[in-house]
Amino acid sequence: MAESYNICLDVGGTKVLGAIFNEKDEIIYRLKKRSKSEGEGTADVEKVIISVVEEMIQQSGINRKKLNAIASCAPGVIDQDKGVVLFTPNLPWRNYDIAGAMKKKFGVPFYVGNDVNLGVLGEYKFGAAKGYKNIVGFFPGTGMGGGLILNGKLFTGNQFMAAEYGHMILDPDGPLCGCGQSGCLEVFSSKRGMSDYIRQQVARKRPCMLAEDVQDGGIFRSKRLKKALAQNDQVAMEAVDRACHYLAIATGNMINTIAPDLVIYGGGIMEAIGDVFLQKVLAEVDRYCMISIRPLVDFKVAALGDDSILYGDLALIKGL
Ligand SMILES: [Zn+2]
Repeated sequence: MAESYNICLDVGGTKVLGAIFNEKDEIIYRLKKRSKSEGEGTADVEKVIISVVEEMIQQSGINRKKLNAIASCAPGVIDQDKGVVLFTPNLPWRNYDIAGAMKKKFGVPFYVGNDVNLGVLGEYKFGAAKGYKNIVGFFPGTGMGGGLILNGKLFTGNQFMAAEYGHMILDPDGPLCGCGQSGCLEVFSSKRGMSDYIRQQVARKRPCMLAEDVQDGGIFRSKRLKKALAQNDQVAMEAVDRACHYLAIATGNMINTIAPDLVIYGGGIMEAIGDVFLQKVLAEVDRYCMISIRPLVDFKVAALGDDSILYGDLALIKGL
């Protein structure tokens, strides 16, 4: 096989990950950068992509002429067939041809997809979801992402807007969500939702190890939550129990809707405490799904951890 490289990026709200894959799909170089503040990574996705790609080429010492393609996730609604960002919630992009702009800049094909869709695709082609055909993915992060594989293909729906079941309403009288509705899955089971709960309890003068992490609207880091659980922090445990309770209800609803052969849970929080989450969700899920469908479903934590999206990028480049 001739020497060639693909650069894959995961541009998130709090961090940027990059990997260079060789022609054997092996990662030969990695880059990880933490954004200084929440949302900084996505504030100017294009600038971040350009600077990170340049840095990776220089630091890794790969031959620029052997670069085959670049792929990245971006936030929002993305036409991944054309590489066009249709809409992003926090950026002025409408129908922006990012693939065209980046191709001009780097002289190689550029691919872009929605972050959670790529995470699920990565797990489907290279990780824990290999061999399954109908897959429901829950990716709790700052928000709650969803990704669907139906009949062996990524399902993106009309105008690439499908799989927003992070905004499935589980309690219309529940807390307000960023989407404008109340009681969405996201307000209970995402890191932001869990942080909000912890902050409310701290305001009631209850002790919690994560009090400083969540003050002033802050969101805890997954590793910190893991530590708090290990020390039996009561408030942190309540936040996790509440998150898993609503995630079990949402899982039951999705099982009844799709009849999947796999439900997969991914993202940073799953990498940190996926075993705890999975156990708690499984303890409850039978109460919320059709007993006739339940035996057909497997449940797994994503195998690629933080790398799910990077492998999804690679699948996109390779047309898998
Ligand atoms: Zn919502």
